[in-house]
Amino acid sequence: MFPLLKYTESQVEEYVSKVTDPMVGASLAKERHDWFDLLNLISPAAYGFMDEMRGKARQARIKYYGKTVSVYAPLYIGNTCVNSCRYCDFRVQHSGTVRRNLSMDEIRREAEAVRATGIDSLLVVAGEDPRINTVAHLAEVGRLLKSMFSNLSLEVAPQTEEGYRELFKAGYEALTCFQETYDRERYKYFHPAGPKSDYDYRLWTQLRAGRAGFRQIGCAFLLGLSKWRPEAASLAAHAMYLMRECYEARVQFAFPRFCPTEGGFVPEYPVDERDVELMMLAFRIVFPQCCMTVSTREAPEFRDRIVQTAADNMSAGSKVTPGGYAVLADRDVAQFTLTDGRKPSAVYDAIRANGQEVVFKNWDNRI
Ligand code: SF4
Repeated sequence: MFPLLKYTESQVEEYVSKVTDPMVGASLAKERHDWFDLLNLISPAAYGFMDEMRGKARQARIKYYGKTVSVYAPLYIGNTCVNSCRYCDFRVQHSGTVRRNLSMDEIRREAEAVRATGIDSLLVVAGEDPRINTVAHLAEVGRLLKSMFSNLSLEVAPQTEEGYRELFKAGYEALTCFQETYDRERYKYFHPAGPKSDYDYRLWTQLRAGRAGFRQIGCAFLLGLSKWRPEAASLAAHAMYLMRECYEARVQFAFPRFCPTEGGFVPEYPVDERDVELMMLAFRIVFPQCCMTVSTREAPEFRDRIVQTAADNMSAGSKVTPGGYAVLADRDVAQFTLTDGRKPSAVYDAIRANGQEVVFKNWDNRI
């Protein structure tokens, strides 16, 4: 569990199992919500209120984000990694993965290909490789990309606060870091070696980035590694903590769910689509102002539906391969399998068909 929470996993499970219909109804009727409302809204009793929750979430979403959906794309600059995450095909032991780190020229070509689709917000992603992805290198990449995109986000190995200050100066303004699991024992099992085996250093990543000036800090756990309700309770507590400590930054949620990988990892606690939706609706209702993204791992129909009620941004035309947009013509070396393989234009059309506007830019770091 998130370490500042005073409840254990079994206490959370016991609580949610005893939530009643009137408790869910009372949480839905409130204007301001607390952590227990989140528990009520993710409880089994909440299944019977999903239509009402869709309406409430849609209302909250419109209040803060209007009828808009922001779009972005990830750019994988490298997939060498010194970590041993048991579920990831980029782990150091997985010999089936073709490794590649892009040169600055290749990064530019990739970025130009993304920019040509209209995307103006970029998420830079890399495996953890301290020989290559140093703060200096990431900063150089940031300076290059800052001239091409109005918004740059980062999803790389956790850095020190000082490191984040340099990266912020180089042009990155948003950070994503999945805790993977808040369960300390399971975290240890899934991350047996490498720098990522340090649970606490990873846990306080968003705090360091927020203190260094990052405008947006993203949190998530990986759905499938542990029981989802205690994980969601931890995620909510983590977010509430960050909203207090980094009040100038905006918290972003993601709900990445396992899908099959080449390495064949099978999650012990699979989460079905109904539970993902329930969780996303509950988080939108309890945290109406926070950003929420919907993963490309989800099916197109689900993504098109959830951006109308809960999520406010989504990736379009993602390639999760270093070089996947322009440089590589050979086989895919992706970190995970994409379920939504539509071209960006098809994603934009679907958003517009639902009466929403596609937002390419809602912030410009060059002004
Ligand atoms: S999840 Fe990230 S840190 Fe772990 S092996 Fe994959 S790329 Fe490396």
